Amino acid sequence: MPDFPDGPRKHLLPKCEEVHFLTMKGMDQPLTWVERVRMRMHLAICDACTNFNGQMRIMRNAMRRLGQQEPGERDD
Ligand SMILES: [Zn+2]
Repeated sequence: MPDFPDGPRKHLLPKCEEVHFLTMKGMDQPLTWVERVRMRMHLAICDACTNFNGQMRIMRNAMRRLGQQEPGERDD
């Protein structure tokens, strides 16, 4: 049975869409303290967003590695 569908918890915890947005935003610019806390709270209870976050981090690291490659060092 759903507990308080419109209760305080709904306002306290950000939605998955917001966490996805913050994940993307956080790659371009530093998040505010509040944004980081909201993300962390959501990630603590949402496996889907935890996976999404991990995948984005792996992708970002891969992109960064590509960006660090010296020009002319590539084979293509
Ligand atoms: Zn989520």
